[in-house]
Amino acid sequence: MTLARSGPLPDEVPADRNGAFGALAGNDAGRVTPMMEQYLEIKAANPDCLLFYRMGDFYELFFADAEVASRALGIVLTKRGKHLGRDIPMCGVPVERSDEYLHRLIALGHRVAVCEQLEDPAEAKKRGGKSVVRRDVVRLVTAGTLTEDTLLDARRNNYLLAIARARASSAESGSQFALAFLDISTGEFRVTECDSAALGAEIARLEPGEIIVSDALFGDPELAPYWRSLPAVMPLARDVFDGATAERRLAAYFAVTTTEGFGTFSRLELTAAAACITYVERTQIGRKPPLSPPSREAPGSTLIIDAATRANLELARTLAGERRGSLLSVIDRTVTAAGSRLLAQRLSAPLTDPESIGRRHDAVEALLMDAAARADLRARLAAAPDLARALARLAVGRGGPRDLAAIRDGLTAGADIAARLAGLAQPPAEIMEAASALRDPDPAFAAELAAALAEELPAFKRDGGFVRAGYDAALDEARALRDESRRVVAALQARYAETTGVRALKIRHNNVLGYFVEVTAQHGEKLLGPPHNGVFIHRQTLAGQVRFTTTELADLEAKIASAADRALAIELDRFERLTALVTAAGAGIKRAAEALAVLDVTAGVAALAVDHDYVRPEVTQTLELIVEGGRHPVVEQALRGGGPFIANDCDLSPPSNAVCGRIWIVTGPNMAGKSTFLRQNALIAVLAQMGSFVPARRARIGVVDRLFSRVGAADDLARGRSTFMVEMVETAAILNQAGPRSLVILDEIGSGTATFDGLSIAWAAIEHLHESNRCRALFATHFHELTALAAKLPRLFNATVRVKEWQGEVVFLHEVVPGAADRSYGIQVAKLAGLPAAVIERAKIVLAEIEAEDRTSPARRLIDDLPLFSAAARAPASPREDPAHATLLAAIAALNPDEMSPREALEALYALKLKAARKEG
Ligand code: ADP
Ligand code: MG
Repeated sequence: MTLARSGPLPDEVPADRNGAFGALAGNDAGRVTPMMEQYLEIKAANPDCLLFYRMGDFYELFFADAEVASRALGIVLTKRGKHLGRDIPMCGVPVERSDEYLHRLIALGHRVAVCEQLEDPAEAKKRGGKSVVRRDVVRLVTAGTLTEDTLLDARRNNYLLAIARARASSAESGSQFALAFLDISTGEFRVTECDSAALGAEIARLEPGEIIVSDALFGDPELAPYWRSLPAVMPLARDVFDGATAERRLAAYFAVTTTEGFGTFSRLELTAAAACITYVERTQIGRKPPLSPPSREAPGSTLIIDAATRANLELARTLAGERRGSLLSVIDRTVTAAGSRLLAQRLSAPLTDPESIGRRHDAVEALLMDAAARADLRARLAAAPDLARALARLAVGRGGPRDLAAIRDGLTAGADIAARLAGLAQPPAEIMEAASALRDPDPAFAAELAAALAEELPAFKRDGGFVRAGYDAALDEARALRDESRRVVAALQARYAETTGVRALKIRHNNVLGYFVEVTAQHGEKLLGPPHNGVFIHRQTLAGQVRFTTTELADLEAKIASAADRALAIELDRFERLTALVTAAGAGIKRAAEALAVLDVTAGVAALAVDHDYVRPEVTQTLELIVEGGRHPVVEQALRGGGPFIANDCDLSPPSNAVCGRIWIVTGPNMAGKSTFLRQNALIAVLAQMGSFVPARRARIGVVDRLFSRVGAADDLARGRSTFMVEMVETAAILNQAGPRSLVILDEIGSGTATFDGLSIAWAAIEHLHESNRCRALFATHFHELTALAAKLPRLFNATVRVKEWQGEVVFLHEVVPGAADRSYGIQVAKLAGLPAAVIERAKIVLAEIEAEDRTSPARRLIDDLPLFSAAARAPASPREDPAHATLLAAIAALNPDEMSPREALEALYALKLKAARKEG
């Protein structure tokens, strides 16, 4: 016998959804029912959202919303009732499965207003037969404000980002931006500032689920195309970004009188932060996610990596858009979702302060040395649920019994871990801080949850049965009554079977009839006749069965229902009280959650280092970059089982007599391993600065402040630009932005156009990098002519990837050595690729011809003819702005050689020389 709980009665909506529209809209033109009025009013208040209008067990959508949703979700669009003489389009999704539909709508860029019934339909009926159930929107579901596990990726943060702009004070200074970002599913909340050059990189780092900007910023002619290229950008009215009220709004949310206690923020930062808060309040409607007070990230505290570089280096996902095969996927050894999120965060924002980086390395090293502690820690972590997200759901009223259990288990695991960590010999600061955060929550609190919660927990609180027997006397009593009555039902069934002689007689239950007696059609006749018709009252005749009720059964049902209702009411009350306890302890729980994540990341990195032989890098304030025996973390793991990965050295440190770092030109045939070598060094720098160990024998990295990586001829057809155009736009960005602390990776730049064009561009780019940017750089190229540049540029260094020619075939050694490749071996590679023998032979003849003609190679001549300092002379601060330079020019302009004696000319020359010398000094 199945017993359904007694749920609320269906309201205006009969069990048959199609009947709903009698209630919604009159069938004749012009008459608007009260319910329709309610719908239209709520819709008018939420014009930019799809409105999920709750009717019984469904969320219904009407009019244009219905058309949009039915198309997006592939659900049936029906027409029911009329409004102003026209059919009302409608579609609906069952409440039970609404998360899944929400997920799809949000992913498609829609926003959804969820409108619930705010009272029991029975209440509405009491006001009169025609009364409409009170409804209102309880939440706006937007991409940046999600809390449900089903709507989120457990391993990624989901940020809401608010961007505020301060207009440039002068033409040169450029606009300044403040970025405030929060993840309401974990409570993190941070603010930072950046200039317009770094804006794209910051957004690429955060990958926000949703961005909010003011209408004005959204409409900015320069930025509008950029906003359109991003997935979810929401323009909001000015008041949200009002600087005058910003601090007040922030302080109000956190119930403080001033935000000064949170740190020092610029007015622009406060504006962005307040915009975030206001948006959260508008979308969560009366619910307060447990946000941390905003914390400020100092500009420059993280390594700036723009979107193209992230894509290129495949940091968080591959060029194909997958997590598998990315750097993140091969270094992620975390065992919890929170750990995985923190690792992704650290990878997307490596640090630039050697001391903070060193603290992370210290922690990894401690866990690397102590294998037993590491294994134990990881086993305990694996049992710790996602505290932060459970907390957030409970705080916004979307939590369930399992979220309470997650808090219980997380805190218990945390306390265990803290006790274990106390046994570490000389724990480093990061670990000590984590341990102390884990000891912080009151143990009585987890004990209370443990006492209250049952072993097996339902997914939803409305299902009941989650409070442990013995925890609440009144609950135990109501349950006893309910269960006793159920036994009475079973006894009643046996008695009826006996008295009627119908052995197959059953007492069943469904939501429409409640409890009923059911017999097969053949026995139905018997019960319909005397003497049984005195007891059995006919309710329903189906094809095979006849259903009855009895007075006794109806009485019993009322008793069961009231006992069950009472039990559930008590449980729900308990749930609310426990939830209140949890939210009150929110700050401590959040710190514990962060501590668990830090430990998970640290232990994961240590495990990775042990398994794959990573070493602790040394990170310094210098401009060195020395990697000995470096490997590519992803290619290395992909090769597992295949051949060995050949480790290679790299040294971009300033030569002994120079201040700035080196540029390596890496030549070698296709497939030799140039791209792999370039990337592995960039990845090693990223890993080192995020606090990880690195795949090398030894590494010494002078902190990098900006990282650039470009590959020639990358495809970007989607934005309608030619691949070469993209390559040049990206190269331009590097040449304009890279500085002495930057690390630049240029892979086959110039390959997207005709040979001499390409060579010239590559040539000039290297000169510029060397003379103006003065950054550390790796430049892979198949133009071996470029290696000649090393003769003139003192910080340029030639390296090549060795290959062996063996019986006319090329053998790749993947070994990077000093020197230049003399040939491309393109034909050999083509042969390996299976080009027809005739084509290969013909190509060899053509090559020989061309090489013979080209002996006086243009590169040789260029090296001799072109003044190399031209790059230096062109690039730095324009002479106009330099007064000394201007006087010198004026002096030269004032000379009139025609009217000078040889002696005067000579004196003028000496005078100029003197002026110039003063300028230098
Ligand atoms: P290139 O850029 O010179 O054309 P890639 O860097 O793309 O060459 O490398 C080609 C392939 O060679 C890679 O996919 C990888 O499988 C292999 N390879 C590259 N470097 C190494 C190495 N150091 N050790 C082993 N295999 C390597
Ligand atoms: Mg390559």
